[in-house]
Amino acid sequence: MPTTTDLEQLLRGASLRVTRPRVAVLSVVHEHPHADTDSVIGHVREELGEVSHQAVYDVLRALTASGLVRRIQPMGSVARYETRVGDNHHHVVCRSCGRIADIDCAVGEAPCLEASDDHGFTIDEAEIIYWGVCPDCSAVSS
Ligand SMILES: [Zn+2]
Ligand SMILES: [Zn+2]
Repeated sequence: MPTTTDLEQLLRGASLRVTRPRVAVLSVVHEHPHADTDSVIGHVREELGEVSHQAVYDVLRALTASGLVRRIQPMGSVARYETRVGDNHHHVVCRSCGRIADIDCAVGEAPCLEASDDHGFTIDEAEIIYWGVCPDCSAVSS
């Protein structure tokens, strides 16, 4: 787990002013990968007391824009956030309960899939979502 000092350095490294809400949101997203906005707000409030939804939205937007946080949004899901950025990892989503887990890049480097036709684009990332049923949900249905 990164310390507050680590998180402050990350913010400064991304040219973001260090504020308590930013440090708190970054630490919450680190501790709860793939958390949605509501649960980020809940955890930030446990740390800082009353913080407005808008403040947390604004922080998430700033962190995402600066590349410190990655925003993913599987079909039919609300946006989720994670601090594991830049490694082109993928996600598996449970169709039943929406649980999300990380899956490493298929070949360990980006892009891990060759496009059959790149249409002239310089491709540097392939983002894959695997869909299925998580162990808990398959235990219930069997
Ligand atoms: Zn499930
Ligand atoms: Zn992830």
